[in-house]
Amino acid sequence: MEKMKDLAYYNGTVTRIADMMIPAGDRGFYFGDGIYEVAMVFHRKIFALEEHLDRMERSAAMVRIELPMVRREIGDLLQELADRVESDCQFLYWQITRGTAPRNHLFPAGTASNLYVYSKPWPGVEMSDDYRLVSVTDTRFLNCNIKTLNLLLNVLAAQTAKENGCQEAVFVRDGIVTEGSHSNVSMIKDGVFITHPADNLILPGVERRHMIAYCGELGIPVEERPFTLEELKGADEIIMSSTSHPSMRVREIDGVAVGMKDAATVEKLRKMYLYEVEKRGQ
Ligand code: PLP
Repeated sequence: MEKMKDLAYYNGTVTRIADMMIPAGDRGFYFGDGIYEVAMVFHRKIFALEEHLDRMERSAAMVRIELPMVRREIGDLLQELADRVESDCQFLYWQITRGTAPRNHLFPAGTASNLYVYSKPWPGVEMSDDYRLVSVTDTRFLNCNIKTLNLLLNVLAAQTAKENGCQEAVFVRDGIVTEGSHSNVSMIKDGVFITHPADNLILPGVERRHMIAYCGELGIPVEERPFTLEELKGADEIIMSSTSHPSMRVREIDGVAVGMKDAATVEKLRKMYLYEVEKRGQ
């Protein structure tokens, strides 16, 4: 089969991303009534697929959306679709919405969930030593552990970051730093890795979890506990993590120089990640 530069899939139909048509009755369109996942494809294999499928199942269960097929079939389908894209390295997105029906808040009866997938080429592992953050008040709802399509306040925060010459926003709720608009925030202080607990106030990031595991292997103590913006500003290192941007090192928050004092530990964590990418690709 001829490979495609990029690919979109919607309930069995495959096209290029720009050509995909979604019915306006898809509840993702008017209610954001759905959940999603993002995973990287490295060396043609979906990185950390099982962890993403775990979170997909958890998110779907929390909002009472039925998966359109069983977990294993979704995993296999995602890999099949990734196999049809030319590039060895891809950004793979999928979302599941609560079916297609005339607009009505109530769950529609007798309609199957919709599965939309796209995959596009990705340049490779992106890491930066030049991240600047702006702090914003976290006024999001109290279910930030669900990877829902409802990202309005994350979108606004990301735009605020850009308008302030920053790469990411960091949410602060009641004095406590929660996470970024599309990433988790962690810090290193006196050799200890500190990150917000995986409760309802943050998305339990796959890369956050990986970093905790790498710390375990490297003998770096980990504390999953709340911390303030002041504490964050006094950290030796601040790392923003996400699937597509696994280790972004922060040098400035709200215009003030921060972090950048424990390059050796950041380097060790990055090496572990790169090792995993290579190992799983074999
Ligand atoms: N927090 C938010 C709000 C996100 O949108 C993301 C990723 O998109 C993350 C954290 C990081 O999650 P992961 O490491 O699973 O990509």
